[in-house]
Amino acid sequence: MQLYSKILIGLGAGAVAGAAANGADITPVKDFLIALEPVGTAFIRALTMIVIPLVTASLILGAASLGDISKLGRIGGKTLAYYMVTTALAVTLGLVLSNVIQPGNGIDPATRDSLSESFAGAAKEDVAMAAQAPKLVDVLLNMIPRNPVGSAAAFDLLPLIVFSVIFGAALSMLPEEKRNPVIAFFDGVNEASMVIIGWIMKTAPYAVFALIASVVAQFGLNLLKSLLVYTLVVVAGLLLHMFVTIGTMVKLASGIHPVTFFQRIKAVPVFAFSTSSSSATLPITMKTAENNLGVPKDIASFVLPLGATINMDGTALFQAVAVMFIAQIYGIPMDMTAQFTIVLTATLASIGTAGVPGAGIIMLITVLQSVGLGDKVEAGIALILGVDRLLDMLRTVVNVSGDLSCAAFVARSEGELRDPGTGTLVSSEQ
Ligand code: ASP
Repeated sequence: MQLYSKILIGLGAGAVAGAAANGADITPVKDFLIALEPVGTAFIRALTMIVIPLVTASLILGAASLGDISKLGRIGGKTLAYYMVTTALAVTLGLVLSNVIQPGNGIDPATRDSLSESFAGAAKEDVAMAAQAPKLVDVLLNMIPRNPVGSAAAFDLLPLIVFSVIFGAALSMLPEEKRNPVIAFFDGVNEASMVIIGWIMKTAPYAVFALIASVVAQFGLNLLKSLLVYTLVVVAGLLLHMFVTIGTMVKLASGIHPVTFFQRIKAVPVFAFSTSSSSATLPITMKTAENNLGVPKDIASFVLPLGATINMDGTALFQAVAVMFIAQIYGIPMDMTAQFTIVLTATLASIGTAGVPGAGIIMLITVLQSVGLGDKVEAGIALILGVDRLLDMLRTVVNVSGDLSCAAFVARSEGELRDPGTGTLVSSEQ
C-alpha cells in the first residue's frame, strides 16, 4: 500500500508543520512542505490534460456503439434521476444534522467577527467571481455549444458532452464503410489516453504526498478549533451520506455489497481527496468503473463525465450545512419554507458547480441569496473559508463516489454490469 502510506506520512508531516503556526519552531519543515506544492500542481495539470481527449473520444465511441437513440434517452433519464434524487437526499441529511446539532449556536460574536475579518479579502474575491456566474437559463442554454472546439478549449465539459453524444449518435446512423474509420480513429485516441493515465498514476504516490502535506502544512490547526463543530457536522454528514446513503443505494440499485463496492473503487477517493477536483479525478474514475466495477465503456463514458460535471452530493450537503451555520451564527431563523428552498437551490446549484477546487463555496453564494441571506454573503463566506480546503477535499470524495454508484446502477439496470473478477454478467435478481 505504497499510496496509502505516503498519504498518512503526508498528513502527519503536514499536521506537524501546521503546528508551527501554533508556536513550535519547525518553520523550515513547514516551508519545505509548502514548497512541494508545485509537484502536486503538476500532477493535477497532467490529469486534467487528459480529460478533454478522453471524454470526447470515449463519449463519441460510447454513443456510436449504443446503437439506438432510445437507449441513449433511457440511460440519460436514469442518470439524471439518480443524480437529482441522491443530491436532494444529501441536502436533506445536511439540513437534519444542522437542525439537530445547531453548529452555529456555540460560537460567540467576538470569535465570529474576528474570523470574518481575517478572511474578508479572500471572501470578496469569491463574491466577485460569483457575480460573473451565469443564471440558470444561461446554464441550460450554454449546454448547446456554439463551437465544440471552443468548449473544449475553455474546459467547458457540459457542452462538450452534449456535442460528443450527438456526434456519436449521428455516427451510428452511417453505413459501415463511413463509420468504421472514424470509430477506429477515436478508439486510438481513447486507448492512447488510457496509456497516459497509466503513466500519470505511476507518479501518484509522490504527487499525492506532496499535495496533502502542503495543504495541511498551510492551514495549520488553529482555525479548526474555532470552527470545530461546523467542520464535524459537515464531516459527519459526508461520512453518513457516503457509507449509509450511497452504500444503501449501491446495495439496492446495483446488488453490490457496499464493502465490496468501496474496496473496488478505493483508488478514486484518494485522487479526489488529494486533487479536490472531480474533473481532474475523472480519468481515474472512468478507468476504475470499467476495470474494477465491471461497468461497460459506453455507460461509463456517458454517466461519469456527466457526473463529474453535474453530480455533487458532497458539495450540496456542505452547502446546506454552511447556510444553516451562517444563519444560526447571525441568529436568523430558517423556517420550513426556507429549508425547502435550500433543498431546491442547493440541488440545482450543484449542477452549475464546476468540478474544480473551491467551486462549491462560490455556488454557496447563490444558495445564501435564495434564502434572504444576501447581506451576509461576504461575512458568512469569510467565516468558513479557513477550513474550506479541507472540507473541499472530503466533499470531492463523496461527489465522485456518488458518480461511480450511479454508473453501477445504470449498468445493472441495463443488465450490463459484469463481475470484474469473472467477467460474467451480474444477474438482475441478485
Ligand atoms: N471540488 C469539488 C469537486 O470538484 C467541487 C466543490 O465542492 O468545490 O467536486
